[in-house]
Amino acid sequence: MTKKLKILILAGDGVGPEVTAEAVRTLKTAAEVGGHDFQFRQALIGGAAILAEGTPLPQPTLEAALSSDAVLLGAVGGHEFSSLPPDRRPEAGLLGLRSALKGYANLRPSFAWPGLTGNSPLRPEVVEGADILFVRELLGGLYFGQPREWNKQANAAWNTMRYTRDEVARVAKVAFELARNRRSKVTSVDKANVLEVSQLWRATVTELAQEYPDVKLEHQYVDAMAMHLMNTPRNFDVVLTENLFGDILSDEAAVITGSLGMLPSATVGGRVNLYEPVHGSAPDIAGRGIANPLGAILTAAMLLRYSAGLHEEAQAVEAAVRQVLDDGYRTMDLARGAMSAKVLPTQEMGRRVREAMLSVRVEAPRGA
Ligand code: NAD
Repeated sequence: MTKKLKILILAGDGVGPEVTAEAVRTLKTAAEVGGHDFQFRQALIGGAAILAEGTPLPQPTLEAALSSDAVLLGAVGGHEFSSLPPDRRPEAGLLGLRSALKGYANLRPSFAWPGLTGNSPLRPEVVEGADILFVRELLGGLYFGQPREWNKQANAAWNTMRYTRDEVARVAKVAFELARNRRSKVTSVDKANVLEVSQLWRATVTELAQEYPDVKLEHQYVDAMAMHLMNTPRNFDVVLTENLFGDILSDEAAVITGSLGMLPSATVGGRVNLYEPVHGSAPDIAGRGIANPLGAILTAAMLLRYSAGLHEEAQAVEAAVRQVLDDGYRTMDLARGAMSAKVLPTQEMGRRVREAMLSVRVEAPRGA
């Protein structure tokens, strides 16, 4: 069935436009092959928007985002903006966009790509086969709870970790649904031995699990989880966390993949889904055509899966990335220490992936 999708492209700053161009070409190839109708619009965000419009999130950008079916973002930020006050810097544009879109579930896969396990600081036999999907609650917890204050007179500061049952249940539902299309296991992370908010979290997740008898639920304390992720990453499928725990654990688990340039993400559940590679604008390599576009390309695959429901097309992109890596092709960030690697610039890596998309065989659709 033909899918119609209005996609807003926010390429942003630094390597953002370089990697986003490859993600867009990937989406165009997927649309052409499947006969789908994707319409692309572009708008400014971050430093590019500051230079053109004087603000990191111009109103037309926000309006275009809210009237799209999906938003694909590159990265924002740059040294030249570091003297601006925090609320006028490029990063403020991204934060403003995220809160306007209201996505509450942040999905971040950590996948050990065969052939890249040598890039991880962990031993290859530990990371081989690891395939984790983090589902992190994004709008609640310690980052947003009131009261919050640094009271200089009292020489004290406080933040509040707060969740309602509904906030926990809606993100847990996302985790259970996704697990059904993967290996049917959810690991819920909390600190229920100490925190009341974690006791609510655990009780809510346990209750919801009754609606998913086909999904195995386990609970882990966050401190133990930090250790298990490094010792036995293969044991995990979907990992469900509150905001702060997920921020820390998903960065920790990123070492499984071996390079920041490989990591995709999606934020779902709000008014419009937001897709962005995990990395920033990488000013140290921007403009040289050497950035790794695979994180952005894998982000495009997440868009195909979660906004278009095109699971086979998403898998074709992922299989193509795997094929290109299996063939020994690398970008600079992946090539360190690998003598036999064939090092490609950004555009050429993107072209190889699209070429492979046309020839790879896709197995039965999977969730993420
Ligand atoms: P960064 O992710 O931009 O770069 C960290 C390191 O990883 C650098 O050495 C960089 O060269 C490398 N790297 C990143 N992406 C790469 C890619 N695709 N291919 C190859 N190498 C890659 O983080 P940073 O240096 O801390 O931040 C730079 C700017 O980006 C700052 O202004 C920061 O605020 C911003 N930032 C934006 C986002 C976002 O837009 N989502 C995320 C993080 C940082």
